[in-house]
Amino acid sequence: MSAELPETSRPETLAVHSPQPEIRGSRPLGVPLHQGHVFAFESADALAEAFESPDAFLYSRMGNPTVRALETAVARLEGAADAQSYASGMGAINSVLLGLLSTGGHIVAQRCLYGGTYAVLTDLAARWGVEVTYVSGTDADEVRAALRPHTRLLYLETIANPTTRVSDLPALAAAAREAGVPTVVDNTFASPLLCRPIEHGADIVVHSATKYLAGHADVLGGIAVFKDVDMHRRIRHHAVEQGAVTDPFAAWLTLRGLQTLPLRIERQSASAAELAGRLAAHPAVAAVRHPAVAGHPDHEVAARLLPKGGGGVVSLDLTGGREAGRTFVEAVRVASLSVSLGDVKTLVMHPASTSHRQLDEQALAAAGIAPGTVRLSVGIEHVEDLWSDLDQALTKAL
Ligand SMILES: *Cc1c(COP(=O)(O)O)cnc(C)c1O
Repeated sequence: MSAELPETSRPETLAVHSPQPEIRGSRPLGVPLHQGHVFAFESADALAEAFESPDAFLYSRMGNPTVRALETAVARLEGAADAQSYASGMGAINSVLLGLLSTGGHIVAQRCLYGGTYAVLTDLAARWGVEVTYVSGTDADEVRAALRPHTRLLYLETIANPTTRVSDLPALAAAAREAGVPTVVDNTFASPLLCRPIEHGADIVVHSATKYLAGHADVLGGIAVFKDVDMHRRIRHHAVEQGAVTDPFAAWLTLRGLQTLPLRIERQSASAAELAGRLAAHPAVAAVRHPAVAGHPDHEVAARLLPKGGGGVVSLDLTGGREAGRTFVEAVRVASLSVSLGDVKTLVMHPASTSHRQLDEQALAAAGIAPGTVRLSVGIEHVEDLWSDLDQALTKAL
C-alpha cells in the first residue's frame, strides 16, 4: 500500500488516490482482475530488484498477477514447467517461432496447418531466409529425412484443420529429439483435457486460447507452454520485447472459461462423435471425418493420443459439391456460419466458398479439402436439436 496521503490533501488529490481496501480473514474465491498496468514500490531497491525477478510485478508487459494466474493454470493443465500468455494464438505462434529461429534456420512442418501459421511460415521463407520443408505428419522416417544440421524446430498440430488428421506425436517428436531438434505442437483443437503433447515428446505447446480454453466467443488469446524452464525464459524474453502480451481482462475471461473446459469438451466430443455417426448415414453426405469415429484415416493414432474423445470438430464432404456446401451453411438455424471454433455455440464453415475461396480445385485437394467439404465445430447445445438442424439443412443441400 502507498504511504498515507498528507491530511491536508485537497479534493483534486483525493480524487486521484482512492484508498484500496485490504482483505483480511477471507480471500477472493476467483482470481481477481488486476487491470492496472503499473505497480508502485516502497523503495528504490525493491523496484531495482523487481527488474531482475521474473515473479515480481512492476509493469504489465513484463508480468501481471491475473495473466500470471492464467499462465500457471494452463502450465499445470498441460503438465508443463511454465507458460507465457499472449494477445492471440498468432501472437504465441510468432513469438515461439522467432524465439527459436535465426536467419538461415530451417523448419520441418506438417503440410496441413492452420491458415495463419502457414502464412507466417511462407513469410519467414520469403523475407527472412528461413527454409521450410513440409511433411505429412504421419511418418517418422519422412521427418528424419527432412532434418538438416540447421533445423531449428519441428512444427505439428495435434488435430489438423479442417481435415481432422491426427499427428503421430510420439513417433515424430522422437525422430526430432534424436537430432536434438525441439518439437512445437499446436494443441488448440484437442485442448489439454484430451491430449497433453508434452507427455508424447513435445517441448513447446501453443494454443489459440480464443477457441476451447476460453470457449465463449468473447475474447482473443494465445498461450505457449514449455517443458523446461530454460526454453521458457528464452521465449519469454522475446515475448516481453515483442509486446504481444495478454490484457488482464482477456486473461480473466479466459480463466473464467477454463473452469468449465472439462465439461464443455466432454459434451462437445461426445456430441461430435454422435453427429458424425448419424451424418455418415445421410444421403447428402459422401464422407465424414472425426478422430473418434471408425473409418478416420488416423483412427489408430487417435485411439492412442485422444483416448478421452476426439474433440468437437467434424469434417464432412457433401455429395452435392461446392453448391451443396454453400446451401448447407446458409440453411442452418441453430448452428451459425462462422470462422471460429471451440465455442459453446455450434459453428459451421464451408472452406471452398469462404476461407479457402482463392484456391483452385487442385490447391484445395492438396490441402485435403473437397469442394463440398464442410467443417462443423460442435457446441454444447442439446444433441437432438443439433441433429434436427443439420438434418433439415442437409435435406436442402441434397
Ligand atoms: C484460431 C487458431 C490459431 C490462431 O489463433 P488466434 O487466437 O486467432 O490468433 C492458431 N491455430 C489454430 C489451430 C487455430 O484454430
